[in-house]
Amino acid sequence: MKIRYLGTAAAEGWPAVFCQCEPCLRSKEQGGKNVRTRSSILIDDHTLVDFPPDTYLHVLRDGLDLGKVRRLFVTHSHEDHFYPQDLAMRSEPYSHLKEDEKLTLWGNAVVVGMIQRGMVGLEFDMVAARIIAPKEMVQTGGLTVTALLAKHTEPEESLLYIFDDGQKAFFHAYDSGWYPAETWEMLAGRALDLVNFDCTHGPISNRYGGHMGIPEVLAAREKMLELGAIKPDAKCVITHFTHNCGLLHQELEKEVSGSGLIVAYDGMELEI
Ligand SMILES: [Zn+2]
Ligand SMILES: [Zn+2]
Ligand SMILES: [Zn+2]
Repeated sequence: MKIRYLGTAAAEGWPAVFCQCEPCLRSKEQGGKNVRTRSSILIDDHTLVDFPPDTYLHVLRDGLDLGKVRRLFVTHSHEDHFYPQDLAMRSEPYSHLKEDEKLTLWGNAVVVGMIQRGMVGLEFDMVAARIIAPKEMVQTGGLTVTALLAKHTEPEESLLYIFDDGQKAFFHAYDSGWYPAETWEMLAGRALDLVNFDCTHGPISNRYGGHMGIPEVLAAREKMLELGAIKPDAKCVITHFTHNCGLLHQELEKEVSGSGLIVAYDGMELEI
């Protein structure tokens, strides 16, 4: 599987739209890997995880052909993960697609409700929305996808996902908080090849909040190794950073040096 990290920031982006803080000013000055847009990934050019308001920017920046994307897995309804307005642009006359096939979206009841209810003046003709619940599994496009529960937006059920193509498998965990017991149970023994960890707070601990920082990521990786959830040589990526964590890309790399954690950046590609 090829995984492309389209965006790697938290809700505000980095630099954030109105922000004058020092990490945002330094991000603007230094550019490159220090500029982070709202988070999503693209799997093998055909599957998206999350649909942030920066998706159109990703198309322009990376020359993507999202007409090839047939499926979208949404973690939760927060605006940095789900911007349905642009999904309406998949219908005529806004898009002329080579194949007249709907994109299937899986998400929790809140996300699917936003599509089914429609929005003022918008129709979602070319999107089929389906509810997926924690512990449920779907097979699509050669992938077996399992939904797991996060600790983030109660009572809305924020979702984490395992993607498995029969050869390799990875766990994708935006906005996770410390995983609930049922999620640890589902991870045990999976021998995963890759984990994308929520690391919103960078070096700052967030053990009891709806996100993680590096201390929680290291503890979670340790527990995954103990449970056989990941292979001993599994790749562990940290992503979804807020400007409030204060560390630019190279500083984050320095912070985790020797730990084996990979600091994601916009446009990064990994093959497993
Ligand atoms: Zn988020
Ligand atoms: Zn800022
Ligand atoms: Zn969120």
